[in-house]
Amino acid sequence: MDVRVRYAPSPTGMQHIGGVRTALFNYLYARSTGGKFILRVEDTDRTRYSREFEQNLYDTLAWLGVDWDEGGNKGGEYGPYVQSERFDLYKKYALELVERGQAYRCFCTEERLEGVRKAQTESKGSLGYDRHCRSLGREEISENLASRKPFVIRLAVPLEGSTRFHDELLGDIEWKNEDVNPDPILLKSDGFPTYHLANIVDDHLMKVSHVMRAQEWIPSTPLHVILYKAFGWEHPDYCHLPMVMGEDGQKLSKRHGATSCNEFRNNGYLKEALINYVAMLGCSYEDGRDLYTLEELGERFKMEKINKAPAVFDYKKLEWFNGQYMRMKTDAELLELVWPFLANSGILGSCAPGEANSPEARAAAGLRFADQTLLEPTAEQRAILLKAMPLARERLHFLTDAPQVIGFLFTEPAVPPLEEILPKKLDAAKTREVLSAAKDTVAKIGSLSEEEADALFRAKAEELGVKMGDLMMPIRMAVTGSRVSPPLVGSIQALGVEKAVARIERTLAERFA
Ligand code: GLU
Ligand code: ZN
Repeated sequence: MDVRVRYAPSPTGMQHIGGVRTALFNYLYARSTGGKFILRVEDTDRTRYSREFEQNLYDTLAWLGVDWDEGGNKGGEYGPYVQSERFDLYKKYALELVERGQAYRCFCTEERLEGVRKAQTESKGSLGYDRHCRSLGREEISENLASRKPFVIRLAVPLEGSTRFHDELLGDIEWKNEDVNPDPILLKSDGFPTYHLANIVDDHLMKVSHVMRAQEWIPSTPLHVILYKAFGWEHPDYCHLPMVMGEDGQKLSKRHGATSCNEFRNNGYLKEALINYVAMLGCSYEDGRDLYTLEELGERFKMEKINKAPAVFDYKKLEWFNGQYMRMKTDAELLELVWPFLANSGILGSCAPGEANSPEARAAAGLRFADQTLLEPTAEQRAILLKAMPLARERLHFLTDAPQVIGFLFTEPAVPPLEEILPKKLDAAKTREVLSAAKDTVAKIGSLSEEEADALFRAKAEELGVKMGDLMMPIRMAVTGSRVSPPLVGSIQALGVEKAVARIERTLAERFA
């Protein structure tokens, strides 16, 4: 059987990490089997739909590199793949079910249904439609149609027996038909389909072979199987994915931390880290390594390696992956990655290309890193950054750390207060002597190797009668404005010795005059 799988989200919110996992598992299954991965947009709920959410869906998958073979804004043989562009089709299929006696028109008014609900609540009976219109006579139906009474189309769920299906992970699942939602609406009175109808018709027409989706959809599956039977179609194979939980065992939500893919992106995570980590949320891979590229995951994915138990989202572990992938980047790659965060932070000061730092550009970049061309570094910025990358790499946990770690290369840091500049063992007078004497040495290290520069500083410290650290600390504070900056020699060289000396002079003038 040709594997054809799909990710079929409803664009009613930003893509969250659970959705990304569903998309990724489907994608990986398609890659591992030589099948096709389809992206279908289930936008039947027009009140909760927004264009921004649909765009976010495309942007998120494109950013992650989880490429779809058919669907979405891309098209394909079985399109259109956006349900709102297929509305006529669903009506046709709903009417076909009516013809086959598997569905029926329900003319009940909202008032009548309200009355039924009330009576059910009062008698503590089970809730749901009372199947009133299931037994309307031919004549009554004709009259209602002739007088243009509005109607919905409902599925005639079998009254007896049970419905069984096999789940690749959970095994056989059986539901008594009397426990299935009594006669759900397939087509609304405005002619719009409900999720159930559109989902089944499309999976059938798009030749979907396997439905891999979150476990919260299991209660809908018996209904779907009944629908397939009603049409006389074969249903796809099912594989319901275990939930993603926070560490407290509750469904992952905002309380636990970032949940939308956009948040992770804006918080400075690399896509490689997200993909690697999310692919392992409740799934294991041959040879038990930690690090896999998207391609390697696609070669190794196996449906039977998915765990039955819920997966726990471990933010610390994701952070570890982020560090790993950060360290694997070349200087040039890392530069491109940190650039939007630097440009966005507004620290570029006079160095910044005016346009790139306009509030609009920053807002746009913050939202979706939309227009990268607006955010190109100048040649000068690029040169400085390239020197800074080897320094920054070890200190960055997230791309968002970049402004704090290497911002001093672009803007004059504020001169720190005296007590932060003074080493523990030195007083102001001695520190002043140390800083003044250090200027000469700093001026000389422009093109020295790290060892050579170190030797010069060591000799200077000896000459001044202070420890090496007591010499370096005030220099670091004067040059970078921060104790947590990258290694000092490299920092001075990336900044340029003239600027470094000027900052020492400024510090002397402002704090030691
Ligand atoms: N539109 C549904 C969702 O939002 C699709 C569920 C399914 O995969 O059948 O998840
Ligand atoms: Zn009715």
